[in-house]
Amino acid sequence: MPLAPPTDGSFDTFQQGFDAWQAHALAEGYVIKKSNSSDKRDGQYTRHIIRCRAGPLTKAPRATHRKTSTASQGCRFEASAKLYNGADAWAFQVKHPHHTHLPSFTTPTHRKQQMTPEVIRMILNGLDNSMPRRLIYRTIKSCNPDLILTPDDISNFISRRLRKETAVSLSNQMHVPLPTQEEEAEADSSS
Ligand SMILES: [Zn+2]
Repeated sequence: MPLAPPTDGSFDTFQQGFDAWQAHALAEGYVIKKSNSSDKRDGQYTRHIIRCRAGPLTKAPRATHRKTSTASQGCRFEASAKLYNGADAWAFQVKHPHHTHLPSFTTPTHRKQQMTPEVIRMILNGLDNSMPRRLIYRTIKSCNPDLILTPDDISNFISRRLRKETAVSLSNQMHVPLPTQEEEAEADSSS
C-alpha cells in the first residue's frame, strides 16, 4: 500500500532509526525529514519530530520564482523519536500516519538515491571523452532503463563537479608561494 506509515520500533541510534524509516518512506512514495529537536540532555537532543517533506504548511506560500514544491501541500504526517531518560535505545513512534497527497517516486530524494558510484563513474567517463551532457545522459539511461534521474540532474551534477574543479585549481594557484621582498629586490637590481 503506497504511503503506509513506518512501523513503531526502537533503534540503537537516532540515525539508524531515521535511515530505516527513510528507506521505508521512499519505497512508499514519500520522504521524511527531521523537524523540531528538543529536550537537550548532556548537550544532546533527546527528542526529534519527524515530518513528511510535503508538509506541514506553516506559512502561506509566498509568490516567489521557486518552482512549485511539495512544501505547499501541507501534509500532516507526523512521528517522533525519543531517547527516554535511562533508556539505551531511541523509540520511534508514528503520531499521525496519514498523508494529504499522492505518492511520488521521483522526488529529489528518490532521484539522489540513483546517483550511485556506477552512475558517477559513467558521468566522469563521459566527461573524460568530451561527450556532450545529453549523450552522457542517454548512455546512462540506456544502461539503466529504470533511471529516474533527469537530464537536468546529470547536467547539474556536471556543473557542480566542474565548479569544484575550478575552485580547487584556483586555490592551488593561490597557494603558489609569492616571491619574498628580498627575491623581488634582487630581481629588480639584476634587471
Ligand atoms: Zn506526506
